[in-house]
Amino acid sequence: MDFQLSEAQKLVRETARDFVDREIVPHVRDWEAKGEIPRSFYAKMAALGFLGAPVPEKYGGAGMDYVSFALLVEEISRGSSSVRTTVSVQTSLSETTLMLVPLAKGEKLGAWALTEPQSGSDAAGLQTTAKLENGEWVLNGAKRFISNGSIADDLFVYAREPGSKRHEGLSCFLVPKRTKGFSVTNVETTTKLGLRASPTADLAFEDCRVPEGNLIGKRGNGWEQAMRTLNSGRLGIAAGAVGVARAALEAATKYAKERKAFGRPIGSFQLLREMIALLTLRAANLRDLGVDNTMEVSMAKLFGAQMAMRVTDRAIQIHGGYGFSGEFDVERYFRDARVLGLYEGTNEIQKLIIADKILGPSHGD
Ligand SMILES: Cc1cc2nc3c(=O)[nH]c(=O)nc-3n(C[C@H](O)[C@H](O)[C@H](O)COP(=O)(O)OP(=O)(O)OC[C@H]3O[C@@H](n4cnc5c(N)ncnc54)[C@H](O)[C@@H]3O)c2cc1C
Repeated sequence: MDFQLSEAQKLVRETARDFVDREIVPHVRDWEAKGEIPRSFYAKMAALGFLGAPVPEKYGGAGMDYVSFALLVEEISRGSSSVRTTVSVQTSLSETTLMLVPLAKGEKLGAWALTEPQSGSDAAGLQTTAKLENGEWVLNGAKRFISNGSIADDLFVYAREPGSKRHEGLSCFLVPKRTKGFSVTNVETTTKLGLRASPTADLAFEDCRVPEGNLIGKRGNGWEQAMRTLNSGRLGIAAGAVGVARAALEAATKYAKERKAFGRPIGSFQLLREMIALLTLRAANLRDLGVDNTMEVSMAKLFGAQMAMRVTDRAIQIHGGYGFSGEFDVERYFRDARVLGLYEGTNEIQKLIIADKILGPSHGD
């Protein structure tokens, strides 16, 4: 399969590549050790429109097509999967939920909260409630593993109306960070296996009141909304898989040349990466054409996550003991690649989505 990039798309890639080499690569080790990325760095990304890349210009975004966006995300991921996670949550999840000018301009950061302590893959089992009382929604419950949860200004939170079951009665609510009754209860950074510069937070809502107008989209339509948003998010994760694998491949190639050892030829991994890159660009292109790309996105995410594990693992192998030592970046690539098959739908969930698309929906819920 061939994929011709336009001049504009090539320019996005070159700009992103240059930005990553200048603004991410020299700092990434420091950020990972400290468990945070300075807000001033995000201001630099915002200035280039990267925090609202696919959002139309009239909403403050850069108005990029999705192929350009995939190329951008791939480059960012080559530099840092932690930064890529923040960009994914900002653009693919938060801004897909609601196009707000301050988010698209990067003046504010967003977070997107679906997962709960008792419900991850089984998102329809979520228990956080939202009750309409005197013109306000009153939220009660807890969210788990929320990227950007502790640094976001605006949080998009899924909750159900009391008494509703499973897919019914779910809606999405905008909760600004300083809302009374909302708190961040736990932030995991450097203790995680990977993504150590990306805050992963638990959230608590105790009689947290937001205005009635903070309901996003149609009341009770949250399930459909969440699934549509995740489809958008998975495209970014697939592109992220290509980026981290490319970083590992480049590191391994450089090392193999310098080390003059017998490392297994890595050409086959290059081929694998290129195949997934094409799958991702195809899924992005379908989105640009307005065609349903659910299956292609899930395929790109599933195969991308698996490919990134294999490539980063081989990159460590090619480095020998040095690959394990922390002296080289390949160990971070390997650790960061692991989450790709977990968040925004595990590998098993992607297989179910692909099977549903091929065979028709299953009869389960
Ligand atoms: C670093 C990180 C960042 C995250 N960021 C966010 C975020 O910003 N917002 C958010 O809402 N969530 C976020 N998550 C949560 C993430 O999406 C969930 O962890 C994920 O969906 C899996 O849910 P779970 O952890 O509850 O695992 P479970 O759903 O309990 O899954 C456990 C295992 O069972 C398998 N399994 C479950 N159901 C099935 C099935 N029907 N068929 C076959 N196998 C199945 C799974 O594939 C998995 O292997 C994040 C997670 C991590 C680790």
